[in-house]
Amino acid sequence: MSPVLPGATLGILGGGQLGRMIGMSARSLGYGVVVWAGHYDAPARVIADRVLTQSHGDIGGTIEMMRTCDLVTLEWENMPAETVDVLSEHRPCHPSAAVLRVTQDRLAERALLESLGIGTAPAWGVRTADDLHTAWQRVGLPARIKTARGGYDGGGQWRVRTENELANLPTMDGTIAYRWEKEVSFDLEISVILARSSAGEVRVYPIFENEHKGGILHLTRCPARISPAVAAKAEAIARRVAEALDIVGILTVECFVTGEDVIVNELAPRVHNSGHLTIEASATSQFEQHVRAVCGLPLGDTSLRAPAAMVNLLGDQSRATVNVTGVAEALALPDVHLHLYGKQEVRARRKMGHVTAVGKSADEAVANALRAHGALGFR
Ligand code: AMP
Repeated sequence: MSPVLPGATLGILGGGQLGRMIGMSARSLGYGVVVWAGHYDAPARVIADRVLTQSHGDIGGTIEMMRTCDLVTLEWENMPAETVDVLSEHRPCHPSAAVLRVTQDRLAERALLESLGIGTAPAWGVRTADDLHTAWQRVGLPARIKTARGGYDGGGQWRVRTENELANLPTMDGTIAYRWEKEVSFDLEISVILARSSAGEVRVYPIFENEHKGGILHLTRCPARISPAVAAKAEAIARRVAEALDIVGILTVECFVTGEDVIVNELAPRVHNSGHLTIEASATSQFEQHVRAVCGLPLGDTSLRAPAAMVNLLGDQSRATVNVTGVAEALALPDVHLHLYGKQEVRARRKMGHVTAVGKSADEAVANALRAHGALGFR
């Protein structure tokens, strides 16, 4: 594929904060941006030349994307693969529908990882009460039961520690597929973010170390506190997955680390929350890198310019308006940067923004990012 050069228009499926930040990078590189947001209140609406509000999968929206875009990408893997099938007959689409079909389904994703000999937590596919019993016998407790499709940020996921807690699970009536996954105890969670361009060039970011709270990412620090051997293992896994998927764009591989062992938790064929600190701390942000990769441009330098940390700003409770407090206090901290996503309503656990701190050490950056997080609030 010859490069799609600035001046062309990039279509983004999805209008959340990831689409907003991809779009901002695309705009600064000189691309036009069309966002298929699916609704009016979308963070990416303000950076787009054109916003489509039809629901994803709508044929009118599909035609409009073909008419107005030179190339299509996405911010979110749970887009109808059939829409991407149709779009890709007329325009380059990265990542492909084939990549979506694997990464939209935890069972398909796991089958891929197994076929590559990549370690994962012991697991069993479940649809019926009988399957549930088999999974309980074979994999055991404590476990995480996850919907095969559509779960995100701890949603569609149940933690079962004891036999009694099995009663909290939805009825397994054969209609929905789940994955019963052994809860593993790990030392830390990491993510590998790499970019693969349509020309086959691959660049990997330094590994990110992640701390989750209630199934949602809370804090990322970089560099991660891992040995060079663990970093090399994780990077090798991510490269193997990227080649197997033949992905174009950013790929994120979330892993659990125990001692010197690395197993994969989840794949995301897109820019990732744990890569937000690349905006300030890396030579090339993950968002610019994604645009370069899908457009077939040379990939940028992924090196970290300085240690950094990112903390997510989540909504505490539902509020009809967004008033941010503590901004002056947070921004008075050294090398702290605030990103608010422009969401129109606060909801509990909703990602409203994030703060990044850059420092002389990752510990310093973490301390300042947490200070800023403590100062900020929504009321
Ligand atoms: P997921 O939606 O699969 O990324 O899960 C969200 C978070 O829940 C992960 O980042 C982990 O902190 C935790 N988690 C998920 N699966 C497991 C598991 N099998 N064992 C232990 N913790 C898990």
